[in-house]
Amino acid sequence: MARKERFNTICSYCGVGCGITVEKDAKGVLSVEGNTEYPVNKGMLCTKGKTLNYVAQDTSDRILFPEMRWSRGHKKQRVSWDVAFKRAAAVFKSIIERYGADSVGLYVSGQCLTEEYYLANKLTKGFLGTNNIDTNSRLCMSSAVVGYKKTVGNDAVPIAYADIELADCFLIAGANPAWCHPILFRRIEKHKEENPKVKIIVVDPRKTQTCELADLHLQILPGTDVILFNAMARWLIEKKKVDRAFIKLHTSNYEACRAKAFELSLRQAAEKCGVPVNEIKKAAKMISDAKGFISMWTMGLNQSVIGVDKNVSLLNLSLLTGQIGKPGSGPFSLTGQPNAMGGREVGGMASLLAAHRDLGNPKHRKEVQDFWGGTEISGEPGLTATEMFDALESGKMKAVWIICTNPVVSLPNAKKVEKALEKANFVVVQDISHKSETTKYADLLLPAAGWLEKEGTMTNSERRISYLPKVIDAPGEALPDAEILWRFAQEMDFPGFEYNSVSEVYDEYCLMTKGTNIDISGLSHDRLKREGSFQWPVPNASHPGTPRLFNDNNYFTSDGKAHFNAPKRLENVSEKTDAEFPLILNTGRVRDQWHTRTKTGKVKRLSTHIPTPYLQMNRVDAYLRGLKNDDVAVISSRRGSVRVKVKIDFDIRERVVFMPMHWGKILNNDFGRANNLTGELIDPVSKEPDFKYSAVQVEKY
Ligand code: SF4
Repeated sequence: MARKERFNTICSYCGVGCGITVEKDAKGVLSVEGNTEYPVNKGMLCTKGKTLNYVAQDTSDRILFPEMRWSRGHKKQRVSWDVAFKRAAAVFKSIIERYGADSVGLYVSGQCLTEEYYLANKLTKGFLGTNNIDTNSRLCMSSAVVGYKKTVGNDAVPIAYADIELADCFLIAGANPAWCHPILFRRIEKHKEENPKVKIIVVDPRKTQTCELADLHLQILPGTDVILFNAMARWLIEKKKVDRAFIKLHTSNYEACRAKAFELSLRQAAEKCGVPVNEIKKAAKMISDAKGFISMWTMGLNQSVIGVDKNVSLLNLSLLTGQIGKPGSGPFSLTGQPNAMGGREVGGMASLLAAHRDLGNPKHRKEVQDFWGGTEISGEPGLTATEMFDALESGKMKAVWIICTNPVVSLPNAKKVEKALEKANFVVVQDISHKSETTKYADLLLPAAGWLEKEGTMTNSERRISYLPKVIDAPGEALPDAEILWRFAQEMDFPGFEYNSVSEVYDEYCLMTKGTNIDISGLSHDRLKREGSFQWPVPNASHPGTPRLFNDNNYFTSDGKAHFNAPKRLENVSEKTDAEFPLILNTGRVRDQWHTRTKTGKVKRLSTHIPTPYLQMNRVDAYLRGLKNDDVAVISSRRGSVRVKVKIDFDIRERVVFMPMHWGKILNNDFGRANNLTGELIDPVSKEPDFKYSAVQVEKY
């Protein structure tokens, strides 16, 4: 009988990070199932995870060899890896020599493995001499990162999934985990099923599938989250339902939070949020009655021009109630991407340094410089995702290296992104699939190995680090991203990139974390292979990992206390609606698609749920425009327009519309590309785009 091989790995989609067992038969045919031993999902997988074997085996769309064009007037031609590296190095050297190091940058992805992220960051900040490295995590979690840093002193999710089964109240805000973090949501569902007294509060302008589990759905007006959380804080303070001892002993800046909470009466807050005052009181009471309170949030709070304010006002609720560092309690940001967390850990963003060191701290910069033996690192943050494309458009930046992400579909104001890439002197795109619309703009196209075709590590939403083995060979001449990066660095004559394996890269990074609050010097690929996954910190080789942070109420802040933060802005400052653009567009995900569909778009089964883009609209707004279900409408904003079919219901508030963000240029006519409409406003601190609030008009086509 033919031998079958089994490998344990991790799902390459969302930040839940489910364990997958891959079976490879003698002919190399793959099948997947949930890893029953893995603590995250205990054998469960959602539709996306269950179909990953089809994605991995269908190589029809894969980029198979490097391609290059000498000028924009020429077609790309197949070249060898040697020629590709020589060309990339020659162009980067000449641009840096002529325009300075800040004229180049890397735009990477929360789907990169930790080792790849680490190398991209080391290459850029340590050797190219610029901090211009950012990631699509900027579109996802950067507001939460700032919120955590301001509150607990670093980008550290305090809790573990195991806390779900210990909690008795969940506040799920700006998130639809039933669709976007399905396996995590199944755990909440099961917990409530077994413990009907568990309370679930959902805050969302839309009635999503998550609301079906809710005891209370606060269908607020878009952008009013800070006012809502502050009103809850006010109720908790007025009713003396706060944990006075915890506040006194373990926090600072309570008075500023209190003063902010009292700026509006509950009645005023309810009016602004568009929900009954009693519902705010009811929610606050559920929180105060809980022995274990968990807040969960994602893009609805993060992707906002006031994203940091939304985050800190929510985090304040955990501090007011002392619900942090205890079993079944704590704030819990739900990461969008599988390794956004790992990328943040290695400092793969324009505003971060490796191993949670602080870019603004000269001592930390010196430590990193000395460790890498590279160039002096500037204390000025580099250009962030949207800033980078602005700089390409204005000519300030000349070259960009895009890895594992499709900005032509995913960044706001997509037309502007296209212009920026047209204007750039040199665009390198390193990806797995020709399906990415961004590949069209590449002067140099590099084929990367995908999931199962390379090894490395990832960190999921609960700080759990897992090892992903190589199971199959990559098609054609595709190489692991880590190898592409270190070979480019060698071609640039940078020292310190003479690696023989990805595990050497990992060992280097683990060593770099020693003595930091994210210390994983007790880990290695070998240990992860042998003993399974670990939650950081893991400071020595016998350390079991750390499921929950701050058990001892010792926070990562300079004074060791958790900090309350008064949100700077209560009111939303998104672009204004007016007579020309009277509706608010909210964008987001659907259950069975992932990002820009380069992977999920290959699986027919995943298109049976929602096969095409659509605009969700309230019946009243549709009636006023003479629109019926499935009519094609033109949606326009101050940036551009798209056509799309409308889906009409009462599940969305009047004057709010929703469009999924997954679809790009279908049939080249922009049908359904949501980011033709979204704008360029960003949170001034987190620099996260305001995807959830664009002023639009909808008209019958
Ligand atoms: Fe993959 Fe997320 Fe689904 Fe788990 S919940 S199988 S990690 S997409």
